[in-house]
Amino acid sequence: MHREDIYKEAGIDAQIYAIGKAAEDALSERFRRIDETAEYNQIKVLHAFHEARVSEACLNGTTGYGYNDVGRDALEEVYARCFHTEAALVRPLIACGTHALAITLHGNLRPGDELLSITGKPYDTLEEVIGIRPSAGSLAEYGVTYREVKLLPDGSFDFEGIRAAVNPKTRLVAIQRSKGYETRRTLSVSEIGEAVRFVKSIREDLIVMVDNCYGEFVEREEPSDQGADLIVGSLIKNPGGGLAPSGGYICGTRAAVERASYRMTCPGLGAEIGPTLSMNRAFLQGFFMAPVVTASALKAAIFASLIYGRLGFPVLPKAEEERHDIIEAITLGSPEAVCAFCRGIQQGAPVDAHVTPEPWDMPGYSDKVIMAAGAFTMGSSIELSADGPLVPPYNVYFQGGLTWPSAKYGILKSLAALKEAGIACNWSQFQVE
Ligand SMILES: *Cc1c(COP(=O)(O)O)cnc(C)c1O
Repeated sequence: MHREDIYKEAGIDAQIYAIGKAAEDALSERFRRIDETAEYNQIKVLHAFHEARVSEACLNGTTGYGYNDVGRDALEEVYARCFHTEAALVRPLIACGTHALAITLHGNLRPGDELLSITGKPYDTLEEVIGIRPSAGSLAEYGVTYREVKLLPDGSFDFEGIRAAVNPKTRLVAIQRSKGYETRRTLSVSEIGEAVRFVKSIREDLIVMVDNCYGEFVEREEPSDQGADLIVGSLIKNPGGGLAPSGGYICGTRAAVERASYRMTCPGLGAEIGPTLSMNRAFLQGFFMAPVVTASALKAAIFASLIYGRLGFPVLPKAEEERHDIIEAITLGSPEAVCAFCRGIQQGAPVDAHVTPEPWDMPGYSDKVIMAAGAFTMGSSIELSADGPLVPPYNVYFQGGLTWPSAKYGILKSLAALKEAGIACNWSQFQVE
């Protein structure tokens, strides 16, 4: 049996298969470099496991107060050693990335302090945490003010703007590594390092926090290797490796992580309490898998970018661009194409592949949104998933893929769905014998 036989059986015709093969061949050198980075990061993670002396007992969990949780202690040591920070919180108690960021901000800011974002408008859900959109319990309600400096038109830091914005009240400087769902480019770790050094040159005592969501293991270094005081993220993205069913992490200096811990639980208790229930195994195993899983998601993003770009759709980033996160934006140009794309991605999923996603009115959005996700963990975006608001220019945001072959299949399914829906594409861009 040949590879294309099994694809045929699973609904991928010879033309679509050949497009996939041509794209994969064209990307072989790129994929080799991604595999090398995954190898580097895999050894880095493994080495951290060894240094933290992860043992079989660490895979068990605790209940109640969670005192003496050896698994939790080992897990947090693994994160801290891997990301080269003094301390870490990695807990099921942290519900998601936004929660991890909120804990970090609330824990490290006091009334009268000012928060400064130097990557412009932060991720949507942080607007209520900060109080940009008024919300009960926001930082604004506690007398923490906020200021932002936009990135320059080319997506780089506005150093002069940053210098002008820092004032005696400024306490914490926030950097968002990934573009999230904005149309800017994602920042590289070395660019972030340059900004961290610049901020510290203005005032050494400023705390620099990086929202590291979607960036973990894409490069060989993390922002903490470049001087950031805190890096924060979600376990249902890259570092959970697709196995963590929930959770978030906060890694950084001992003092900053400790201050965050008093918001995660409460003053006095901090990191000392917090049962892990039965999550330690999934968190440890997920982190172990994460470098390779992230590599699969990266390959998927680049593969989709190459194919959709050649078919004539605007893509961000382009296939040949260096890449610092796992999100791909594709401008499909019509609601029909967005729906067909999402149908195909759904058909490629391991769970709920037989259901058809429909656009719906989501809370917090002014337009209808369609989402494709057939994931083992609800809302997990390290698993193959796509979503798009049904509004011009009809973008879809695409990310994830636990294994490269399954991600490839999902993308080929999206092509098959476009073809079936009769969406105009430059199919001739691919030489198909
Ligand atoms: C996902 C994400 C977050 C946090 O989102 P949650 O859905 O709360 O996990 C924050 N910032 C960025 C850039 C993200 O991509």
